[in-house]
Amino acid sequence: LGASRTLWELVTRRAELSPDVPVLIQAADNPVDDRSLTFGQLRTRAERTAAGLYAQGMRPGQTVAWQLPTRIETVVLSLALARLGVRQTPLIPGHREREVALAVRATGAGWYAHPGQWHGTDYAALAERVNRRYEHAPRAFTAYNTLPEAPPGPPSALPPPPADGTAVRWIYWTSGTTSEPRGVRHTDRSLIAGGSCLAHALRLRPDDVGSIAFPYAHIGGPDYLVMLLLYGFPAVLFEKFAMPGALAGYRRHGVTTAGGSTAFYSMFLAEQRKQPHRRLLPGLRLLAGGGAPKPPELYHEVVAELGCRLTHGYGMTEAPMITMGAPDDTPEQLATTEGRPPPGMEIRITTPDGEPLPPGHEGEVRLRGEAVCQGYLDADRTAEVFDADGFLLTGDLGRLLESGHLVLTGRSKDVIIRKGENVSAKEIEQLLYEHPAVADAAVIGLPDPERGERVCAVVEQPPGAGRVTLAELTAYLREEGLATYKLPEQLEVVEALPRNETLRKVLKYKLRERFG
Ligand code: ATP
Ligand code: MG
Repeated sequence: LGASRTLWELVTRRAELSPDVPVLIQAADNPVDDRSLTFGQLRTRAERTAAGLYAQGMRPGQTVAWQLPTRIETVVLSLALARLGVRQTPLIPGHREREVALAVRATGAGWYAHPGQWHGTDYAALAERVNRRYEHAPRAFTAYNTLPEAPPGPPSALPPPPADGTAVRWIYWTSGTTSEPRGVRHTDRSLIAGGSCLAHALRLRPDDVGSIAFPYAHIGGPDYLVMLLLYGFPAVLFEKFAMPGALAGYRRHGVTTAGGSTAFYSMFLAEQRKQPHRRLLPGLRLLAGGGAPKPPELYHEVVAELGCRLTHGYGMTEAPMITMGAPDDTPEQLATTEGRPPPGMEIRITTPDGEPLPPGHEGEVRLRGEAVCQGYLDADRTAEVFDADGFLLTGDLGRLLESGHLVLTGRSKDVIIRKGENVSAKEIEQLLYEHPAVADAAVIGLPDPERGERVCAVVEQPPGAGRVTLAELTAYLREEGLATYKLPEQLEVVEALPRNETLRKVLKYKLRERFG
């Protein structure tokens, strides 16, 4: 199956192999509303939807923007578009007209699929506002009520599916953590390669039941779907992932492995701590996640308190699966590294000039492999992001160990330069995280007339903790052996760190705006 050239070919092969095995299980708030779809039905419904869209005038070469929650219909639509060979740009429901207008304009999307009214937002009105801001108005349709589906029977008018998996048919948007979101160009082949990497790293079993806790519109969505297609097991979906409802869904459907991000591990822990004497999810074997830093302490907490394994990986919109912890890694490796790259993913650690560095040395992380994107929508940015050897510059810093494991040490944009000395935000964050009066921490550099930048720690405190002071934290950091020049000079205690909608990543630029 992994040799499939296109996503549609992969869907077709799996549907032939396991037509009656469920692939998607929608867990609703009320269990009687739970629904599911088999691999065979997924293929059939996607093909009928493709025929319906074709009848409405949708053609290969056009672009469809879709902004939909994590529902079975969303996966069906996305595959229908892949079947037709049109270009698609997925947007998460949390995006507002600025991001939607940016995506529609940059991709020239002629269609926009939205959920109508959803969780207090009127997406039809949002589409109107986008249209007003932008003269090339996309044609809107609501995917739930009016998703065009051709009548049963073999679709007659549909042209053959695309044969070429190397055409750019997917535009995913970066989180916009360091700058404006950028549109990233992917192909069926890069998405299949990413999902194959994930499948390889997790080493799951055909009797597993997966689940995703992030929006399907995130690039992790097709990555996870490819994994399901390769293994032939189902995943439980939640329209809006929240505790404790999600836990009930996990129990109802016997979830054995769940995919999410760092914030999602913490959500589980918080629930478990409400009833420490009973294991919340005895059937859960493996939490697999990534996409954001994970303090080593969190790893140990998850393993000890939830009683399951945790593997954490490194990925980015430009390459959704770069490294992942493996079942045979030691607890220490799982806690302190991002795992190893799967076959087909090359990692090079370099100086800023691109000189390769030997194992153990910290430098820029660069990547090459099939799962890496084709660059950005903007050709100038594409030219800047690849080096002469075709490696992608990730903007992340790290070192490769002799064992092949990658340790990320920060982002090049996240290094604070204080009086000419480099201070890694991540090093301080990890220490702060271990302090009992700190639930989460973000360390930022703020402009400072004397030092260039000063180190500012922004912390979230656990419920019930007394307000922590700067003196207390610096005394603790000193004791932990942190060099004096790295000690925070400013402390801000916040109710909640600002986070993005997709993976709940901390938005440091917002903190810099607020406290700078
Ligand atoms: P933008 O590129 O728009 O500024 P972004 O880089 O946050 O935003 P994403 O593609 O969603 O957008 O995130 C990728 C980044 O997330 C990586 O480059 C890396 O900095 C960070 N990241 C991903 N996985 C991990 C991890 N396991 N540990 C630490 N950081 C990680
Ligand atoms: Mg990025």
